[in-house]
Amino acid sequence: MKIGIMGGTFDPIHFGHLATAEAVRENFSLDEILFIPAARPPHKLGKKVSDEHHRLTMTILATRSNKFFKVSDMELKRTGLSYTLDTMNELHKTFGHSTELFFIIGADSLADLFKWHAAQELVAKCHFIATTRPGVDVDFSAVENFFGKVAKEHIHRVTTPGLEISSTDIREKVRLGRSIKYLVPKSSKNIF
Ligand code: ATP
Ligand code: MG
Repeated sequence: MKIGIMGGTFDPIHFGHLATAEAVRENFSLDEILFIPAARPPHKLGKKVSDEHHRLTMTILATRSNKFFKVSDMELKRTGLSYTLDTMNELHKTFGHSTELFFIIGADSLADLFKWHAAQELVAKCHFIATTRPGVDVDFSAVENFFGKVAKEHIHRVTTPGLEISSTDIREKVRLGRSIKYLVPKSSKNIF
């Protein structure tokens, strides 16, 4: 089994997340993509994040029409700070160690990967698929320098559809009363 993990705050989930996940699934012949809404992202501690129940519901509804897309509430259930390393360990326990885990990471997050909790251990344990994001240029050699040999084997790069959509922009549009049609799935409209 090869499982892709799409982690995010999903506040709200948008077509940038969905198109990226689908492109990665095809490109890497993954058996499924598991969307895991984050509880309290350590890097967003000071920021206000929408109720987790709403973020989870939007994620479930948005992914329902794709039989390869699944959603897990494992990070939402966890108490205290939530780290990707804990999630990967839990998934390895659930699916067995022969299952390969591919964490899908946008260009903006890849640039920060070295700051993540136990980053070296994490990269050694699972694969990372670094996707492109419009307007974000990552110095990949800096990433390779930091992670060394393991980066060459475990960090893969892929070009994904360049959808210039972000949850921050969507929240701002909602605040200003502007349209978010065609940026988020219809199912999110009544929730967000
Ligand atoms: P926010 O603006 O609140 O940070 P976001 O749009 O960046 O929201 P996140 O939930 O933070 O969404 O992102 C989850 C993951 O999806 C990250 O790895 C991020 O890089 C990636 N991602 C988000 N939007 C896009 C997009 N438009 N194209 C490609 N990847 C994306
Ligand atoms: Mg983000």
